[in-house]
Amino acid sequence: MSKPLIGVSGSHIVDDHGTFAGYHRSYVNDDYIRSVIEAGGVPVILPFSSQDSVVWEMLSHMDGLLLSGGHDLYPLTYGEEPLQGIGAVWPERDHFDFLLTRTAEKLGLPIMAICRGHQVVNVVHGGSLYQDLRYDKNCYIKHSQNQDPATATHTVDIEKDSRFAKIIGATSLVTNSHHHQTIKAVGKGLKVTARAKDGTIEALEGTGRNYLQCYQFHPEMMSINNKQAQLLFRDFVQTCARKR
Ligand code: MN
Repeated sequence: MSKPLIGVSGSHIVDDHGTFAGYHRSYVNDDYIRSVIEAGGVPVILPFSSQDSVVWEMLSHMDGLLLSGGHDLYPLTYGEEPLQGIGAVWPERDHFDFLLTRTAEKLGLPIMAICRGHQVVNVVHGGSLYQDLRYDKNCYIKHSQNQDPATATHTVDIEKDSRFAKIIGATSLVTNSHHHQTIKAVGKGLKVTARAKDGTIEALEGTGRNYLQCYQFHPEMMSINNKQAQLLFRDFVQTCARKR
């Protein structure tokens, strides 16, 4: 079986000093690339583009979509004005990621979504976000850890009948946590499959026919030394391979 092509949604990074200060570069964090390769896939960076026809064309050559992390979503995308606690936003990337998600769903491509990607999927499905943890009165756990990226810090309880639980063979996992926004209202066609001990939603799964697995934590960082994080990538990549 040939290896599936996994499109990884890209971002921009801006040089902050040197000859090319202010210069924009297309990139993704290397952990996404490593995780896809180790799981048996071929990663392809899908560079940010504001041209809808280019986005459609590049995705049409892929076997799956991996939505990466990054900026806060612009709150107007889910009908809220920006509050004091909002972080850095990039509305043009919201448009890009929304288009990637809708196109992948139209094409029937398996989707794995991480952190910002998990929030993107929720908003595309009509859900909303807490713009910052402070606006969720039930949230008491430190979700914005300042440890090594791969270090697991808080417990996640997983629904036993979920694909997530079946993949890792457990109903509990200690994960890393690098987010200050969380899911508020859950979008249509999605179900909650995991929560932190304070009730914070840590995973969503699509209820439709398409493979749609969304994680608020960062399995791509954990997969450097965590077998269960590796299994999440393997399940996604193998599904993409079968769908080729
Ligand atoms: Mn968390």
